[in-house]
Amino acid sequence: MKPRQSAPHITLDYLKAREKMVKEQIINRGIKDPRVIAAMEQVPRHLFVPETLHGQAYNDSALPIGEGQTISQPIMVAFMSEAVGLRGDERVLEIGTGSGYQTALLARLADRVYSVERIRSLLERARKVLDLVQCRNVITKLFDGSFGWKEEGPFDAILVTAGSPEIPKPLMDQLKIGGTMVIPVGNKNFQRLLRVRRNRRGFSQEYLRECNFVALVGEHGWEKPARKDYERV
Ligand code: SAH
Repeated sequence: MKPRQSAPHITLDYLKAREKMVKEQIINRGIKDPRVIAAMEQVPRHLFVPETLHGQAYNDSALPIGEGQTISQPIMVAFMSEAVGLRGDERVLEIGTGSGYQTALLARLADRVYSVERIRSLLERARKVLDLVQCRNVITKLFDGSFGWKEEGPFDAILVTAGSPEIPKPLMDQLKIGGTMVIPVGNKNFQRLLRVRRNRRGFSQEYLRECNFVALVGEHGWEKPARKDYERV
């Protein structure tokens, strides 16, 4: 009888799959920041997807994580992580924790990560995995992230991982002078990924690429929900 595969073999398989992902999907497609590459090599992406999808975790695609939401495609996560340009000493605000995968990468690239998610079940699962992989510099909150996180702001960097009809005003206000925000802006099926920088005179905007994120649902995003998910008990 064939022996059952034991945990160490499985871990090794995931490690190999991750190395392949980083080489083929990340480095070969132009990601250069060595810190982003190292973080992608380290974070076990499979732990952030539902167990039934573990085998697909290192594929070149977004995957469903429940509640109609998705974990972004690896190259998009790498691209955004590189675009926001972190050196290691920043306080970063992330809107849309989702699976927590992008959060775990940011935790390795910055000093402290504040991540906001509006769907309770997703945040609870993400929190468990973030604890499991020992991301101790991540603080999460269940709330409408289109308001940002005023009490903790302003931030050196803001990363929004859901598509918005426009840049939410509170996020502009909570960006430090000298800070950078990366945000998808557009309609529900198609957005332009923008990099916004704040200087003493105001804001500058740069178009980075096309993208397709799930909607930022909230007061300063798409339709204001009648029942606020983050208030559900
Ligand atoms: N970076 C995540 C992306 C998840 S999809 C990942 O790779 O797993 C985007 C997430 O944004 C979803 O979980 C969705 O629930 C969340 N979201 C949408 N609108 C939000 C809002 N107003 N505040 C906080 N989170 C929001």
